[in-house]
Amino acid sequence: MTTAVQLTGMNQPELVSFMETLSEPAYRGRQLFAALQHRRLRSFDEITDLPKDLRTRLSEVANAASLKVESQYLSDDGTRRYLMKTHDGLPVETVFIPEERRDTICFSSQSGCPLQCTFCLTAQLGLLRSLTAGEIVEQIQIALNDAYGTGVKPPRGTNLVAMGAGEPLLNLDQLLKALRVMADPQGLHIVPNRVTVSTAGVVPRILELAGISDRPHLAISLAAPTDDLRNELMPINKKWPLEQLLSACKTFEETLKPGERLTFEYVLLEGVNDSDEQARQLANLLNRHNIRSKVNLIPHNAAEPLPYRPSSDAVVERFKNILESKGIHTYVRRPRGRDIFAACGQLAARQTTLNTRVVTNLVGAN
Ligand code: SAH
Repeated sequence: MTTAVQLTGMNQPELVSFMETLSEPAYRGRQLFAALQHRRLRSFDEITDLPKDLRTRLSEVANAASLKVESQYLSDDGTRRYLMKTHDGLPVETVFIPEERRDTICFSSQSGCPLQCTFCLTAQLGLLRSLTAGEIVEQIQIALNDAYGTGVKPPRGTNLVAMGAGEPLLNLDQLLKALRVMADPQGLHIVPNRVTVSTAGVVPRILELAGISDRPHLAISLAAPTDDLRNELMPINKKWPLEQLLSACKTFEETLKPGERLTFEYVLLEGVNDSDEQARQLANLLNRHNIRSKVNLIPHNAAEPLPYRPSSDAVVERFKNILESKGIHTYVRRPRGRDIFAACGQLAARQTTLNTRVVTNLVGAN
């Protein structure tokens, strides 16, 4: 299995060439693409429009699915968390968040994460490895199949956020490859305009992304308004401090489409980064760089053993009001799936949680 070709990360031309190596005509490659990406089938047995002997030959050299769902958790608010394993046994987590007008799937770009953000539980895993394009695409297929049934068209729009485990800009090539496969109208058809990639601030890759015409939206995790505090909370800041980060954001701004804004995320940690003074510093920092942007405030999601607590609702509101009084567009993100460790910064391959419905024996998800 481990040496088998992973087909889920291939685009149509690649599947056509792959079929040609098996002496099959081009249309077989297109058929395979539709089966994997449009019908979201995850085993060759189910692709009954391919001849049986071809399916047997395919299964000898390739796989139609590489991730396996180990367990899944359902939150009281409808959020679902999937804990999956790669073929080499590493954890991958994905979160499906239903909303009134759309669904959001939060996917992982790496197993574990190499960054050492002190407020994030994923950091404790360290980097296990970057995920392949196929492993990224499969997370979305698994979540959609589970929510709606194999191959069923989602009734609402699907938004994707690369805000699960890992630093997406440290796996940019595979991420972009996955996004291009998913954008194909004959496949999942989730276009870059529906995708937001969040980064802790990998400056050279922000600049690279700015030059890509079919790029997704970008969000930057700030968490602190000064270098001193950010160095402490997000050690990546020592490599690319705020001035460098914001000047890369300014370059990125030039590529924003009409109506598009850059997002700054700011996790609120009680008594650490949530004072009135820090709100003013943040507003001044952003105003000084004058970037077309908005701020998402994220109350911290408790994640034992991390030594932080979320700011109170009153403090969140004050912080927001100060930013707004200085002209910053500010939103407060409502946490989802906290009870099942599915919220931001809580993904660390937890097997069980209290008071949770654990659903196993998944139908159609594998
Ligand atoms: N590595 C990327 C993407 C993953 S983190 C990045 O840093 O942006 C996604 C978001 O969750 C980031 O904005 C991060 O600041 C936030 N976050 C991390 N841990 C959190 C926690 N425990 N509570 C709330 N938000 C958290």
